[in-house]
Amino acid sequence: MTKVKIANYINGKLVEPLSGSYLDNYEPATGRVYSLIPDSGEADVNLAAKAAKAAFPLWGELSANQRSKYLSAISDKINEKLEILAEAESRDNGKPVWLAREVDIPRARDNFSFFATAIRHFDSESHYTRKGVINYTLRKPIGVAGCISPWNLPLYLFTWKIAPALAAGNTVVAKPSEVTPMTAYLLSEICMEVGLPAGVLNIVHGLGRDAGNAIVLHEDIKMISFTGGTETGAHIASVAAPMFKKLSLELGGKNPNIIFDDCNFEKALETTMRSSFRNQGQICLCGSRIYVQKGIYEKFKKAFVDRTDRMIVGNPKDDRSEMGAIVSQQHFEKILSYIALAKEEGGTVLTGGQAVKLDGEHSEGWFIRPTIIEGLDSSCRTNQEEIFGPVVTIQPFETEEEVTAYANSTGYGLAATLWTENLTRAHRMADQVQSGIIWINCWLLRDLRTPFGGMKNSGVGREGGWEALRFFTEPKNVCIDYSE
Ligand code: NDP
Repeated sequence: MTKVKIANYINGKLVEPLSGSYLDNYEPATGRVYSLIPDSGEADVNLAAKAAKAAFPLWGELSANQRSKYLSAISDKINEKLEILAEAESRDNGKPVWLAREVDIPRARDNFSFFATAIRHFDSESHYTRKGVINYTLRKPIGVAGCISPWNLPLYLFTWKIAPALAAGNTVVAKPSEVTPMTAYLLSEICMEVGLPAGVLNIVHGLGRDAGNAIVLHEDIKMISFTGGTETGAHIASVAAPMFKKLSLELGGKNPNIIFDDCNFEKALETTMRSSFRNQGQICLCGSRIYVQKGIYEKFKKAFVDRTDRMIVGNPKDDRSEMGAIVSQQHFEKILSYIALAKEEGGTVLTGGQAVKLDGEHSEGWFIRPTIIEGLDSSCRTNQEEIFGPVVTIQPFETEEEVTAYANSTGYGLAATLWTENLTRAHRMADQVQSGIIWINCWLLRDLRTPFGGMKNSGVGREGGWEALRFFTEPKNVCIDYSE
């Protein structure tokens, strides 16, 4: 079988890595190599940064409406190729095709259409300070932006950074995760098809420690928007901060899902199934610590375990599969090691807890049963460290104060979900729980205008809506005294 050779997209052209070397790209559902990824390094990033720097003056000077037209054209093309992109994303990542078709790719399309529109309505402030004095703020694009994204929602998170950076008038050097490069490659083709000017977007494939690090270190790349693990984020901050680069870091989470006695039981249960296991639990916003109030604990646990037992883990191409494969062998092993740790820490596996062996071409794929673990307290490693897989813990609580302390007991603070019909309690808890995003009686209900990001070790800065456009522009205040 000939393997598709992915290319870098630099200065408007598809090019080979300068070293000529490639990395293997695995299909998680079969465990086999199916394509080759450029193993790019500093020299490739230098070329990309040079092209982006050269393209910046023209792109940055275009009107918002002109840039908006390019972004809308990209959005339309993504829509046109939705099925091809969904299949590619599923093959690269292991997620079911239906999920990529219903969520990931439409959202990538919407990222471009949202920022194509948002930039046309973006404004800046003007203040009448006193008679004869006005202050106003110019918000100008900065230059070349570096965008680095993870593997869990490949095209969705890649475009969540690229679209606002371009809309605001910057040019971009971007690196997708080397684990899931295919949809970024297809995006390069789309940019060529819509005639995006050369150098405006450059996509360099390769390892984080080589290509990623070179982006962070490059002196002409003035800002870094990164989504990934907290450890990587800390490393990037240590390199970029002394260079005075603007930084946006969207990092890991260990999100609490808090269910009170008075919740809408069916809705809480059905949503908890999704918030625990959607995308094989590999969404930074998944609720991995489930706290259920004592009055409904046993009933909820039984119903949750019963439904989880019935979940279908299978071929990602089959629309009946509720879960597909884990993204890589390394991550598969990491998740299994956390299940072993949970047992060592005294946890009881209520369901799942093991790998699944499928038949035929999927016999070497990396599949894990959705897993629920009981009997662990909040301070153990299983409840403190990010597992990022289909593994959740469940624990009873009595009072609001008690569960707030559990919720806030980790170093993370990305997202929390609250289930209660008590309005005042919902607001009180939303105020007290240390998370950048709080969902009340819902999960993953996104409005792209809202600030997105985490507190504590879950990140620095916010993405989404005006926050993203502010990040990708530099405010310059002008004060004029026009009095005689
Ligand atoms: P990583 O931190 O391993 O990698 C993220 C990206 O950074 C990849 O493109 C990676 O390349 C690159 N990278 C790695 N090392 C460096 C480096 N030294 N310099 C520059 N770039 C580097 O995260 P994962 O890909 O494993 O993604 C999972 C993590 O992402 C989880 O912790 C999850 O919580 C988090 N995440 C956070 C979200 C949020 O919005 N807060 C959303 C989604 C995920 P390579 O692939 O080659 O390693």
